Parts: sequence; C-alpha cells; structure tokens
Amino acid sequence: MEQTPHIAILPSPGMGHLIPLVEFAKRLVLHHQFSVTFVVPTDGPPSKAQKTFLEALPAGMTYVFLSPIDCSDLPEDVRIETRISLTVTRSLPSLRDEFRSLVATSRLVALVVDLFGTDAFDVAKEFNVSPDLPDPVRIPGCIPIHGRDLLDPAQDRKNDAYKWLLHNAKRYRMAEGIMVNSFKDLEAGAIQALQEKEPDKPPVYPIGPLVQIGSSNGVDESECLRWLDDQPGGSVLFISFGSGGTLSYDQIHELALGLEMSEQRFLWVVRSPNDTIANATFFNVQSQNDPFDFLPKGFLDRTRGRGLVVSTWAPQAQILAHGSTGGFLTHCGWNSILESVVNGVPLIAWPLYAEQKMNAVMLTENLKVALRPKANEHGLMEQVEVAKVVKCLLEGEEGKQFRNRMKDLKDAAAKVLSKDGSSTKSLAELACKLKNKV
Ligand code: UDP
Repeated sequence: MEQTPHIAILPSPGMGHLIPLVEFAKRLVLHHQFSVTFVVPTDGPPSKAQKTFLEALPAGMTYVFLSPIDCSDLPEDVRIETRISLTVTRSLPSLRDEFRSLVATSRLVALVVDLFGTDAFDVAKEFNVSPDLPDPVRIPGCIPIHGRDLLDPAQDRKNDAYKWLLHNAKRYRMAEGIMVNSFKDLEAGAIQALQEKEPDKPPVYPIGPLVQIGSSNGVDESECLRWLDDQPGGSVLFISFGSGGTLSYDQIHELALGLEMSEQRFLWVVRSPNDTIANATFFNVQSQNDPFDFLPKGFLDRTRGRGLVVSTWAPQAQILAHGSTGGFLTHCGWNSILESVVNGVPLIAWPLYAEQKMNAVMLTENLKVALRPKANEHGLMEQVEVAKVVKCLLEGEEGKQFRNRMKDLKDAAAKVLSKDGSSTKSLAELACKLKNKV
C-alpha cells in the first residue's frame, strides 16, 4: 500500500511563526491527506504556550522538540533576528538526527521552513528531501525553467557568489539605461517584458547581436582555416567551450570516443582536463599541460584527416563564418551563441557554468536550434550519446530543421543590424540621448 506522504515543518522560534504553520499543516492533513511532523528548535525549555499549543495538535500531526541549543555566548543586546537565526543554525545537528529517523520511518516528501529557516535546506538536501518547488520557475517573457537550470550563483544561497548576484541585480535599476546584446527575434518575450513600462525602470535598448568579426588575438589562425578550406561545405563540427571551459578527464575521453564513433568531421579546441573546476582557464586561457596527453590512446592517428585538434584557443569567429562549418558543439556562452546566430550554425548545447544552462534551455526548448545530449547518472555524457547527437546534427532530419531555423535567425540578425533595423535604431536613440545631455 502507498504510504501517506509526510512533511516536516521547521518553525523558527516564536509563536507567531508556529501558529500560521500549524494552520497550513491542518489544511494539508485535512484536505490533502498528508501527515506532518513539527520539528521545533529551541534555545531553552519550551514555553507553556508552545507546549499547550502543540499538545492540542489534531490527528495526523505530531511534534518533536530538538535539543535546546546554547545561546549563552551571545551578548545581552543581541538582536532578536540574530538569535532566531542562530537557534536554527545551531539546531542543524539535531535536525539531521531527526531527519534520519523521519526518512527511515515515513515517506518524507518535503521540508517546509519559514523566513529564518533557510539553513535547514542543507540538511534536507543531504536526505534528498526537496526544499525547492518542483515546478519550473516562470520568469516574465521567458520559457519556464527548472530551478536546477537557473544560473550557477543562484544555486547555492550560502555562497558569496549569490550575494554578489543579488547585490548587482538590485542595483540594475539605478542605471539610466540598459543595453542588451540581443534582439527581438532571438528573445521576443524577454525583451517585451523588459521594455514594459514601470515607475523607476530604466529604458532597455536591444542593440545586438554585437559580435566580433575578423582576427582573434594574434593566434596563428592559418592552420585551422587552411584545414577548413579543404573540407566539404557544411561538413565540420566545431567544438569549443569558450574562453574558460574545461572538462574532466573522463569526459574528454567520452567526447573523443564519441566523435570518433560518429564518423563525422570535427575541429576541436582541446584544453587540459580539470576534474573540479568547469571554468578553470577563465582568467588565463593557457591550458596547464599539453592537452593532447589526455586524449585516448591512438585517437589522433585514427581520426587524422577527418578531425583536427588544436590546443587551447582557435579563431572561433572565423571558424563559424567558414562555409565548411556545419555545426557547433558549444558551452552556450552568450557570445558563442550570437556568433553562431549571425552565421546560421546549428548547435549542440553542452552548458558548463554561469548562466549557460539557462541559455541551453532557451536554445533547445524555445528556439529549437540546438540538441542537448543527456548525461548519465554520474553527470557524464557517454560516447554513444555524443556520437548520436553529432550524427543527428550533421546528417539527420532534425539537424536540417535546426539549420533552417538558424538560417531564419541569421536573416533576422542581419535585418536588425541593417541601416533601418531595430538594433541600429535602438543604438541611435541611445546615442542621441547621450549627445543631448548637458
Ligand atoms: N573564443 C575564441 N577562441 C576560442 C574560445 C573562445 O575566439 O578558442 C572567443 C569566442 O569567439 C567568444 C568568446 O571567446 O567571442 C567567448 O565568449 P562566450 O560568451 O562564448 O563564453 P565565455 O568565454 O564568456 O564563457
């Protein structure tokens, strides 16, 4: 028989936090057939009011007091919010014990906390109990997106990166205007939502796509471009993970063997593996070791002629503009996406860090110009999966459709950047405002 779904609720200290959560729990139990345990942190013996209230809980609801924590080190004038938050934080070890027994004895499906309880998320995560909404987040004008696909700094609310994200996001409204490197046909909904008028909202100018053309940073470009000159039109998959992207050792192997298995032509910018940091070379594009050491044995010989492997950096803009390039396996950095759009190159989305997963969702589910390989349960894209998507993009029916849609976007990009195009006008409007400033 299916066990009743169970919910743990952690009310932070204070009757004002407990009472509404009990009302909430009553509705879950009475109308939706859940059972509930209140896990109550305290900094001393429970108050009489608390005890009386909890003892009167109806059937289907129980409570447990966590071991009282010690607050004797706090100064006398400590603010109440600090004391409440610390009571939760210092209760985490006993919460963990309680979770262990709840998970063993019930079908625990969620933890509910109030505004002071977010530290408990870590414990819930350890036990795979969801503190997040399972439904996708609906950002105005954007395709619904799962929490796990949101930008990296939003994933760990404890990390400084999250604080910086909020810090900057809150200050965007202080700008007199916001330029976005995008255009209507690429992100119609988002741009419309951004341009909706609201008090104190700066005007938003879509002025993109602004992408580099021409030569790349003094790198010897001749090898890649000369090699491309000798390949049939639209036949080569270009593979690059941006200025900083690195793969793990195992992933490099799977990717290499997958490329080999696909029997397609490829041009791959390889970096030394890094098993811990996905953006290991972001601040320094030099790969640490000779990356070719890490490729599978014999790979270079077996793929000679059909594949070209270059170390660390390649003239991407020119490669994407080259007629032999038929697809791009990309980490979904924004510049890489725009460079593909202006050249009409369809994509394989392989996001690594920053906001790249969001970009990948938009490319695959909204614009439908990219394939996204599926990782196995260890997060690894296996060679068979790699070979499948590569073949599908370069040879398959779906690949053809992606290419056609990219071609439409390429035309649209050329149009918005033409003399009377919307991006040209948007930039002119901004320039005019700036010129007329005193
Ligand atoms: N780039 C390049 N050669 C390389 C790797 C990257 O020219 O081997 C350029 C690429 O054309 C793009 C930029 O570096 O203009 C990378 O920006 P993107 O937003 O795609 O990714 P990020 O490096 O910020 O992750």
